[in-house]
Amino acid sequence: MDLGIDGRVAMVAAASKGIGKACAMALAREGCRVSICARGAEALEAAREEIAAAAGEDMVMDFVADVCVPCDLEAWLRATEETMGPADIVVTNTGGPPAARFMDLTDAQWMAGVDSTLMNVVRLSRLVIPGMAERGWGRLVHITSLVAKQPNDILTISTTLRAGLSALARLQSNQHAGRGITANAVLPGNTLTDRQYHLARVRAAELGIDETEALAHAAAASPMGRMADPSEIADAVAFLASERASYISGISLLVDGGAVQAIG
Ligand code: NAD
Repeated sequence: MDLGIDGRVAMVAAASKGIGKACAMALAREGCRVSICARGAEALEAAREEIAAAAGEDMVMDFVADVCVPCDLEAWLRATEETMGPADIVVTNTGGPPAARFMDLTDAQWMAGVDSTLMNVVRLSRLVIPGMAERGWGRLVHITSLVAKQPNDILTISTTLRAGLSALARLQSNQHAGRGITANAVLPGNTLTDRQYHLARVRAAELGIDETEALAHAAAASPMGRMADPSEIADAVAFLASERASYISGISLLVDGGAVQAIG
């Protein structure tokens, strides 16, 4: 299927590794010109080189930015517009917030979680929606988590805020779909990335098991008995970002190998 996004400009946040990098790669392979950001210059440059090798040197640019810092988001958008043109597709993404049970979390951790998990989506969306609306075409895809649908005891902040992001995607759709902008959330299940190794260490410490066993538990959470490869999340993101998904808006799409057990 031709996704119909050849030549579109896509910004993918937090994309030096893991799911974000896979999304940038998938969009670049579909012919998008991709702008990626992350905090660490070295890993970001390595990701840029990897995408350039697969899709072409002029298909990708990188920009060092912390998605929690409003002026970084503004500077990243400016640099993208100057180099590639206005952003047609924006994939919001970030690192996972601190993993802990409710009674173990401090106010400072909650506030940092709000900044890193929620406000970056609010701020980045606010920056790009006016231009998308003016041009009559836009795609917002928010990477969140299956915990938006199925709470996880050690992912208290993530669970709380990601449920809110599903609501935000719906509200953005209600308010902007009439101007050609779709807004959707993608909810990955357990995906084999650095974040998953980190969570395995947290779970191992909590349950008194070793990390390998904790990773096996994570794989067993899906009836497929395995974790996702980041590219399997990215393919769903690329589809929602595409012309072919023009009548899909406001949804929260689980890409979890069938892990969440709610019906419907
Ligand atoms: P990862 O740790 O592999 O990669 C995170 C990326 O975000 C890296 O490129 C890192 O440099 C970048 N990053 C982190 N904080 C940033 C910041 N403040 N500003 C800019 N860049 C930043 O993580 P991942 O597994 O790819 O997860 C991506 C998102 O998906 C996270 O929010 C995570 O909670 C969510 N998620 C992951 C899984 C999973 O199993 N891996 C499952 C559900 C949801």
